[in-house]
Amino acid sequence: MTLPVPVVWSEDCLLHEPGGEVWLGVREDGTEVPARALVLRDTLMAAGAPVVPARPHDDGILRTVHDPELVDHLARLWPDWVAAGFPAQYGRDRAVPYVFPTTGLLAGLPLRSPPAVHGRAGRFCYDTMTLVGPGSWAAIRGAVDAALTAADLVGSGERLAYALCRPPGHHVTRAAYGGSCYLNNAAIAAQALLAAGAGRVAVIDIDAHHGNGTQMIFYDRPDVWYGSLHVDPGAGWFPHYAGYAAERGRGDGDGFNRNLPLPPGTGDDDWLAALDALCAEARALGPDAVVVSLGLDAAATDPESPVRVTEAGYRTAGRMVASLAPTVLIQEGGYDLPTLGALALATLEGAATTAYS
Ligand SMILES: [Zn+2]
Repeated sequence: MTLPVPVVWSEDCLLHEPGGEVWLGVREDGTEVPARALVLRDTLMAAGAPVVPARPHDDGILRTVHDPELVDHLARLWPDWVAAGFPAQYGRDRAVPYVFPTTGLLAGLPLRSPPAVHGRAGRFCYDTMTLVGPGSWAAIRGAVDAALTAADLVGSGERLAYALCRPPGHHVTRAAYGGSCYLNNAAIAAQALLAAGAGRVAVIDIDAHHGNGTQMIFYDRPDVWYGSLHVDPGAGWFPHYAGYAAERGRGDGDGFNRNLPLPPGTGDDDWLAALDALCAEARALGPDAVVVSLGLDAAATDPESPVRVTEAGYRTAGRMVASLAPTVLIQEGGYDLPTLGALALATLEGAATTAYS
C-alpha cells in the first residue's frame, strides 16, 4: 500500500549536531544524531508518503507555550558562546552548562541573567546532555515549524499528519529544557490545534520516557489532557523527578493528567493494555483532536530504554490512537538506526488504517 499520511519535513532538522552528550561526567557520542531524521524521511518517502515542506510560522504560538526568555536564550546561546571565544580559544566546541540555578541555590533570590555566557548557559537547562552547537537553533526552530505545519493540516481538515521533528521536544517545560530536547513541539502543536478551534486536545505520549515537559506545560489546565505510558522513573530512568502515577494535574487541571509507569522489560501485551486504558480515558473526554508524542524508543531494539515493544506493537498503537480523533503525530525519541524507519512506517500504516477507513 502507498502510505497516504503527509510527512512534514524541515531540511533544517539536519543542522543540529549536538556533538554527543555529557552523561555522568563523561562526554559520549550520543544517539540523537541527524541520521535519525534521514532514516525516517527516506523510509516514509520510499513507502510513498507525500512529503510536505514545513512552512515558516511566526513566534505567536511558540511564545504562548514557552517563556519568551527561554526562546530568546536558545536563539542567542551559540552566537554568544562564539563571541566569548569558547570554541576558538578554549576548545569548547559546544555550549554546555556547568552552574544550575536550582530553587535551593536561589533560596528566594530573583533569577538573574548573568552577563557571562558560561554562567548563563545553565539558566534554562536542567542537565548536561543537551548540548548547543552552530546549527542547533535553526533545527530547533525548524522542528517547531514542522509541528505547526502538521497542526495546520489537521486543523484544516486532514485526518492525520506526521511531523518529522528533530530535535525532539517532550522533555521541555515552559521555561526549562533538557533530555536532548529544546522546545516542546508536541505542546506547540496542541496549542495550535486549540487556536484552530479545538475545544479540547488529548496528548498521548508513547515515548519510552515520561514527557515531563508536556505534562508540566498543561498541568494546571483542563483544555489539554496529557496521558503517558513510559518506563517507571522510580526504577531509575530519566526524567527521574516526574512521571509518577500520583501526578494527576493541579487546580483547574486536576484530573487531566494520567501517568502509567511501566516496569523495565514491559512487552507488547502490557504496553498495549496500558495504551488501551489511556485511549479509553481520552475517548471519554471527547477530544476534538489528538497529538501523539511518537517516541520509537520503547522498541525492543532501542539502546535508550528497557521497554520491549515490537514493530507489530507499534502498528497496533498507531491504529488505536488514530481512532480517537483527527491526529497530529510528533516525532520524539527513537535511536536504533537499523530499525527506526520500519517502526515509524508500521505506526503510520496502523494509524492510516483507522484514520482513512
Ligand atoms: Zn525517549
